[in-house]
Order: sequence, then C-alpha cells, then structure tokens
Amino acid sequence: MRGFFYASYALPAFYGGGLSYNPDMVDTQFIIKARWVIPMDADQTLLEQHAILVDGGQIRAIVPKTEIPEWAADWAVVDCSQHAVIPGLINLHAHSSMNLLKGYADDYALMPWLNEHIWPAEQRWVSKSFVHDGSLLACAEMLSGGVTTFNDMYFFPQATIEAVKRAGMRVQVGLVITEFPTNYAATASDYIRLGTDVRDQYKSDEHISFAFAPHAPYTVSNQTFEYIATLAEQLNLGIHTHLHETQAEIQQSLEQFGVRPLQRLLALGVIGPNTVLAHGVHLETNELETLSIQGAHIAHCPCSNLKLASGVAPVAAALRAGVNVGLGTDGAASNNRIDLWQEIRTAALLAKVADQNAASLPAYQALEMATIRAARALGLQEKVGSITVGKQADLVAVKLDDLNSLPCFDPISHLVYVASREQVTQTWVNGQLCYQRTPDGQMQFAQMEVEELRSIALQWQLKMQS
Ligand SMILES: [Zn+2]
Repeated sequence: MRGFFYASYALPAFYGGGLSYNPDMVDTQFIIKARWVIPMDADQTLLEQHAILVDGGQIRAIVPKTEIPEWAADWAVVDCSQHAVIPGLINLHAHSSMNLLKGYADDYALMPWLNEHIWPAEQRWVSKSFVHDGSLLACAEMLSGGVTTFNDMYFFPQATIEAVKRAGMRVQVGLVITEFPTNYAATASDYIRLGTDVRDQYKSDEHISFAFAPHAPYTVSNQTFEYIATLAEQLNLGIHTHLHETQAEIQQSLEQFGVRPLQRLLALGVIGPNTVLAHGVHLETNELETLSIQGAHIAHCPCSNLKLASGVAPVAAALRAGVNVGLGTDGAASNNRIDLWQEIRTAALLAKVADQNAASLPAYQALEMATIRAARALGLQEKVGSITVGKQADLVAVKLDDLNSLPCFDPISHLVYVASREQVTQTWVNGQLCYQRTPDGQMQFAQMEVEELRSIALQWQLKMQS
C-alpha cells in the first residue's frame, strides 16, 4: 500500500518543490528538515532549523539542518521549513467506535444521557461492524489531527484493532468489563474471557498494547474489580476506568458503599502506577495526594466534562500534587470532536479560570499532557511521547505560516493557543507517513480512501435514522 500512496501522489509539490522522492526509501531512511523541532524533553528544548533523521521507523539523529552527516547525504528529504515538528499526540481516553454516535444525543447530563440515549442506542446498534467502522472513522479523524496513539475502551476490541491496523496507528486497547449484558458479552466473566482472548491473539504486535477496562465504579462490582486487579498484576497489564466523573457518581457510591469511589477502588487494589483514571473531575486535596502516592494517572477530558456539565477537574492542583495528567477526548458522542488540539487549548484555558490564576497550566505543560505525560500514563514513555534518539518516529508536522498564525514569536504558544488540526500537514507513525494534507487542503491517508470513509459514515447515518 505504501507504494501506491507515495507513487500516486504529486510529492515534489507537496514536499517543497522539485525534490526527488524515492518511494522505496521513504519509510526506511529520510530526513525531516524543520523550522522548529519541539522534542518535549525535560529541559523544554526548542530547536530551530533542525533536522530529524528517521531510520527504519526510529529516530536516529537530531542535528542542525546545516550539519547533515555524510552517511545520510543521499536520504530523501521532507521540507518542513514553515513547520513545527512535534511528537505524535496521544489521546489518553477514547471510545473510538462511538464516532458513529457523534451528535446522536446532545445537551443531556451524564446519567440521563447514558440511561435514556446512549445505552439504548448501543443495545440496538453495536456490533462488530459498528465498532470496526466507527473506529476506522475515528482513526481517520485522529490521524488528520496529529494523533498517533490512543487509549481506547469499548466492546468488540478486535474490530477496533483491525481498524487501527489499517490506519497504521498505535492503540492501547481497553478490554471493557461491566456487570451488564450487551451485544458483546453477557456477564463480567464473559467480558474478561473475550478480552483476554483478544489480548492473547495480539500480544506480540508492536503497535498494540492492552489494559483491562472495568467501565466505572457504578457498573462493576467489588468482586469483579478485585479479580481484575489480580489478573492485571499477573499479566502485567494496566487498568483503565472512569472515576469521579460526576457528583451523582460519588453520591451513589456513598449511598451504596458508604465511601467515595476512589476510596472503594483503593481498598479493592485497583489504584496503582498502571492505572489510568478517566475524568477525575471531583477530587479533593487528600484524594490528589492519594493518587500521587499511588502513582496513578488521570486522563483529563475537558470538553466532554464541559458538554455533559460534569464539572471542572482540578488539573493544576493535581499536577502540583505530583499526579501525572494526560489529555483525552472521550467518545464522539459527548465531545463531539475527536480533536486533541481543542482539548489542549481548553485544558489550558479552563485551568486558569478554575484557579483564578493566568499562570496555571502554561502552554508547554498543556502540550506535555498530550505527548510525554500521556505516554507515561500508558507505560509507553520509552517508545513514544518525545522526539528522542532511539524512540519510534511518531511525528507530526504543523504548518505555522498561514495568515492566522502570523506573526509567530513562539511556536509553543501558537500550538496551544492558535493552531488547529487543519494545520497538521503530515502524521508519521513508526516512520510511516500515515496521513498528509495537500496544499489545497485535501486529506490523504496511506491505507484509507476518503471517499470510502465518507460512504461508510453515510451508510450508518441512513441506517440509524431509519
Ligand atoms: Zn469515557
């Protein structure tokens, strides 16, 4: 497929005029020459006029543009002279197949939204093909916005994996578990068995990792949580769950269990360094300290929290307490854009107003939450999340010379407060160019046709309207 992608596209114009591009070399050895490289390292380095040398899917060197080593003299060159190149973005909380429920039920609070709209729709429509098609559309949306890895949670995970493999992305698959029967499974033990089967099938795939995903404290029993905690430890898998999303969830837990959900999950052994907690909207100071001590991670989903009126997560306080926080979109049914740029900007703005302090969550920290901090939450920090020699070449080029981006005194400021996903011109995963936007704004994917994706979405629209 890559031959088709590179051979059929007018590369010289796109890559800066007149460069000869060897399709056989492009995914093995090439040089990205960038106006800025933002590695997202601990020193907050900003490199100007640098080049990234990609070799066999890995980042082999980062050098000034004028100091390309001789051994790379004949490598293909990608001209990003008006771009900032950043690590691939990581979406730390997604339900990718819910892309087919985008705009299906708006303007409800979480519980009526779930009980009266989303769960009945899922009962009616969710199947293997629903999950595959919804995930494929989500992958396209994410790739076009510079997302290279996402942390998913949904039914029929194998169908999501098939979509992800076609898109060429990375995923951490959350093997969903609830006590409730769905079209996917009947009992908690069915969910666990089906999930571990999928994990066994794909466990050696370099682009796929797994976590158990007990849905939420209000849908999973003590016994199941305890069993999952044991199993996760035995199999060395993470745990991905929703936690403290709404006040109603906390109230229900107090009534049913006499404790807040975090306290309950802590006692059940669910909270630890391999745990990613989606939302964490309602967390008190002592609870942030607990999460910090346990080394658990929060997936902050500001837009979903705003849309469902769940509240404003205390993100700056969490970071100050030493809790690692990444950013997620949540599903398209509650967002409705699977757009990490929107989450980055909203997170930065929301933290300031929540703290009544304009210095809260500065731009660089917001960008960290969509890259290296999210990688750390998934245990993938040695592999992705920063532009570092030896790491996988998951890279994104963002064009910063359009009229709305000028003047540009600080590319990091622009990435957070100005840029939109339409400015992403290339997304590479493991050194493979998976997405590019042409100068006239057309989307192109390595292994997916835009027209096919449109037709899949429209077919589901017709079906679900009937
Ligand atoms: Zn969610």
